[in-house]
Amino acid sequence: MSRRDTYLLVLSAVFIALVMFISSLTARAAVAIVILLFAAVFLFRLLSTKISPAPSPATGAERARAEEETTANIFALGKLFEATMGGMREGLLVVDQDMRVVASNKAAYGLFNPSRGKLEAQRLTELTRNPAIYSAFLDAINGMERSGVKVETHGPDKVIFDLRVVPLPGANGKAAQGALGVFIDITRIERLEHVRQEFLSNVSHELRTPLTAILAFVETLEAGAIDDAESAHRFLSIIRKNANRMDELIGDILELSAIEAGNVAVRTELVELKPVVTDVVASLAKKIEAKGVTIVNAIDSKAKVFADARRLEQMLTNLVENAIKFNRDNGEVTIRFEPGGGVGPGDRIEVEDTGEGIPSQHLERLFERFYRVDRARSREMGGTGLGLAIVKHLARAHGGEVTVASEVGNGSVFTIELPRER
Ligand code: ADP
Repeated sequence: MSRRDTYLLVLSAVFIALVMFISSLTARAAVAIVILLFAAVFLFRLLSTKISPAPSPATGAERARAEEETTANIFALGKLFEATMGGMREGLLVVDQDMRVVASNKAAYGLFNPSRGKLEAQRLTELTRNPAIYSAFLDAINGMERSGVKVETHGPDKVIFDLRVVPLPGANGKAAQGALGVFIDITRIERLEHVRQEFLSNVSHELRTPLTAILAFVETLEAGAIDDAESAHRFLSIIRKNANRMDELIGDILELSAIEAGNVAVRTELVELKPVVTDVVASLAKKIEAKGVTIVNAIDSKAKVFADARRLEQMLTNLVENAIKFNRDNGEVTIRFEPGGGVGPGDRIEVEDTGEGIPSQHLERLFERFYRVDRARSREMGGTGLGLAIVKHLARAHGGEVTVASEVGNGSVFTIELPRER
């Protein structure tokens, strides 16, 4: 307690004594008010000493240094804030009450791509005509937080955003002074969701077709056909064919999802190519014979590739089987090997047919799951529509790629490219 505070206490005591001797009520009240004022000042001083106990810098130099430190801290914080906001993939946009941009980051700039240099000071209506964005910001300015607003950009590179806008309250919690919007890019998630839905509906459709046939023939048998030995036999073989189809389809779906999930280990080593091709051809002997095609195994006996032998065989089986299936009767299938250079493209294994070829508009999507040039015909031929998708995933699991070149009427060439030994 300082000396001045002691004087104050003594003075207050004197005043209290005076109050005791004053007879007039008004005078007593006046003195009491003065005492209370003194007490309040005293209390405030005491409290403020307790709240800020840190001693103020004694010298001017220390004070200057403290100020310098604070400025440096604020500057560093500003830089950190700027770097964080600038590096964010999410677009940030702050508008004031009049819907004018007061702050934004780089991602937001890319999103709106303003004709006038920068976003700041522009009205939201000048930046976008999208009513969803405008109404989300307007709601936030009126104090209502909005989230899950889906915003799509137009143009060739369509981008989909999830927009969340929160009100920025004014001082002392008064009504919103502006709004902060965060644009989160969900294009990839939306695309994956679309692919997933499409895959599910394809799978259901592919399974339902043979299942419907099975149920129909079972019903026919139950309705009496079972008593006619010849028809019963025929219907049972159709049921078997469709059940096999379902089995193959489920097998391929499981295989594909295992490869896609990375659960299929690809153990690469130097593999002699010619014997692998010979095995593939032998396993397809029945189909080769049925179609009357000639197989030309044009691979040098010294040719070696860096691959997982089992997976290589699986890829080649799918390609050679297609080359037979989509060939003309008595056509030809040639399997070639082109070794890659030391650097650049890897080794190439080509499977060429003399079939009907594939119109160019289909080539880009050919390796997608369930994509077929002629749906009904391909199904009739007994494929699952997943063969090429499996080849693509296996080639990529090897660090390679599969491509196709085709000429309608002249046939197609499928090429598996594998990296050289690493
Ligand atoms: P599928 O089980 O139908 O054969 P794939 O994924 O193996 O399924 O092939 C997809 C589609 O690509 C086929 O349905 C067919 O339309 C086309 N295709 C594949 N290979 C050839 C080829 N060698 N010649 C012509 N078309 C082909």
